[in-house]
Amino acid sequence: GSVIGILGGGQLGRMLSVAAARLGYRTHIFEPGAAPAAHVAEMVTTAGYDDLDALKAFAEQVDVITYEFENIPTEALDALEPVRAIHPNRRALAVSQDRMIEKAFLSDLGLRTAPFAAVDDEMDLSEAIAAIGLPAILKTRRFGYDGKGQARIAEPEDASSALAEMNSAPAVLEGFIRFEREISVIAARGANGDVACFDPGENVHRDGILRTTTVPAAIDAELTAAAKDLAAQVLEKLNYVGVMGVELFVTEEGLVVNEIAPRVHNSGHWTQNGCTVDQFEQHVRAIAGWPLGDGSRYADVQMENLIGEDLLRIPEIAREPGAAIHLYGKGEVRAGRKLGHVNRVIQ
Ligand code: ATP
Ligand code: MG
Ligand code: MG
Repeated sequence: GSVIGILGGGQLGRMLSVAAARLGYRTHIFEPGAAPAAHVAEMVTTAGYDDLDALKAFAEQVDVITYEFENIPTEALDALEPVRAIHPNRRALAVSQDRMIEKAFLSDLGLRTAPFAAVDDEMDLSEAIAAIGLPAILKTRRFGYDGKGQARIAEPEDASSALAEMNSAPAVLEGFIRFEREISVIAARGANGDVACFDPGENVHRDGILRTTTVPAAIDAELTAAAKDLAAQVLEKLNYVGVMGVELFVTEEGLVVNEIAPRVHNSGHWTQNGCTVDQFEQHVRAIAGWPLGDGSRYADVQMENLIGEDLLRIPEIAREPGAAIHLYGKGEVRAGRKLGHVNRVIQ
């Protein structure tokens, strides 16, 4: 059978490996650190993304390459690309791994984003605050996830401590969006250009980390269609192949794009128990050149992330009817760490 190479060995790589195995593929994980995906993948390379020899050897041992997180240096892709195809493509990765480039790309597409400005120093920050107003959020341009690398600025006096939290990394100031709710669309585009979207899920965050996703979201049919159209537009513009997560704010004036993730997405985990073809299989189908699953939903689902101490509730969750438990096999319980999730099917 063919081998799918996955850059990144976290829980997303793990669940991709399981889906790939179900379709008869083997997987090979490339991961610099400890990897929950290593338990289910057939092959693992433990090496840094700057190890060009290891990258080249990895590429030669697989048939197609994908990734499970967006912070891979594009130089690593430069080393892999001459050897094997990479899906999603380099541009999708480059756009989504830098919040400035991402916002510029989205607004060039005519999509609404939070007002934004690049901030490298104190001077930039005071100009950005003058232009955008407060409250606002300062975020590092790169490497942020689960709300890390972000500082809220409510009052002008918060500015200097917020900047200090960026640790001299290039940042972007975003105006605070007063949203009614947060939703996301998990969308897929196949090698032949077909697009399939799952129904938007409604997301609730706590301390910057996704807490729950509920489908259906409490939005009307028109907004559902608009959200799917928007996602399709992004995929087409990037000539994208694979699954993408598109995070949106629902506001009085319509949809505002928060960010895009060029990979399977935490807010798409509900599909494992709500759809015939879930987001992981959908991604494998797309990158392997299969037809896409249709994305339709046969159940209402609420996904709850199991973060840190939540793991201790497993024995009681295991007794709940209709609760499907997904654990990542990560050793250590640490506050703020995603250790698993539960999908509650609501019929
Ligand atoms: P992840 O990649 O894990 O989704 P992240 O670290 O990239 O998270 P964001 O998605 O930028 O973080 O922000 C996390 C959450 O913070 C958002 O889902 C939203 O609840 C809130 N948030 C972020 N930016 C804004 C904004 N401009 N206005 C209002 N709320 C915001
Ligand atoms: Mg993000
Ligand atoms: Mg986000």
